[in-house]
Amino acid sequence: MEVFTSVASLRNFLEQQTFQQRSIGLVPTMGALHDGHISLIQLCKRENDIAVCSIFVNPTQFNNPEDLQKYPRTLEADCAMLEAAGCDIVFAPSVEEMYPKQPVLKFNFGALETVMEGASRPGHFNGVGIVVSKLFNIVKPHRAYFGQKDLQQVAIVKKLVSDLSFGLELIIAPTIREEDGLAMSSRNRRLNVEEREIAPHLFQILESAKRKLLKGESVEEVIRQATAAFDSIEAFKLDYFEIADLNTLQPITTPGATGTNAICVAAFLGPVRLIDNIVF
Ligand code: AMP
Repeated sequence: MEVFTSVASLRNFLEQQTFQQRSIGLVPTMGALHDGHISLIQLCKRENDIAVCSIFVNPTQFNNPEDLQKYPRTLEADCAMLEAAGCDIVFAPSVEEMYPKQPVLKFNFGALETVMEGASRPGHFNGVGIVVSKLFNIVKPHRAYFGQKDLQQVAIVKKLVSDLSFGLELIIAPTIREEDGLAMSSRNRRLNVEEREIAPHLFQILESAKRKLLKGESVEEVIRQATAAFDSIEAFKLDYFEIADLNTLQPITTPGATGTNAICVAAFLGPVRLIDNIVF
């Protein structure tokens, strides 16, 4: 496995690989890797000759300076995990390398960014759009891998790829969870022991909402009960609980066909903001 920190040297290396007809897969990450990320790497390695993992804590997508400052950075441990997973290339640029100049370009993802994460984290998806576009232009992957854990990000990246004609295939992989149901996340390591014990309630409330919807209870009633469930656990501060159309991410009043509906949640647990979702 080779680690690159410079855009020019990575480009040079990957252009030679493409010239030799080798396919390139990209897994963009912010590091502090866990088994969720590793599942993407393994999938990428199975489907491509060269698996590239980028590790970059992208400042332009953080709307909260404390979240950016406290975001875990564990490059050495990440590289050990990536090597064991069969990753070929790590791209770990500095902020100056990725942003020699502050970008002025602004993305507008329309209705996709006016809900949920977009509404709660102003500017977040603009930063995602910028960094993902830069990574696509630097790596020029044949395939790029994203997790369903960040459902709205998936919708945004799909839009980016289609609106800007990035000639690549997007592959979306399922959310990997701890045994107790908690979705794996780099931010989980900031939870203290008590918070970590409470955290699986997030997924349990999602599952319970899904069951109720499948039994025919109304969207309005299910949201009311889920909100009450969060309110009853003092450590949680609910940000949003939405039942939405999977593609448009707009709120729905009645679920559509199987596989077209999503239940999405964001909640603070102590200082940490957790998100999760279920598609049904
Ligand atoms: P991040 O480092 O949080 O930006 O995540 C990098 C990629 O890994 C994104 O496409 C995420 O959706 C994906 N990812 C994060 N957590 C998980 C998980 N628990 N299961 C599957 N994919 C994940």
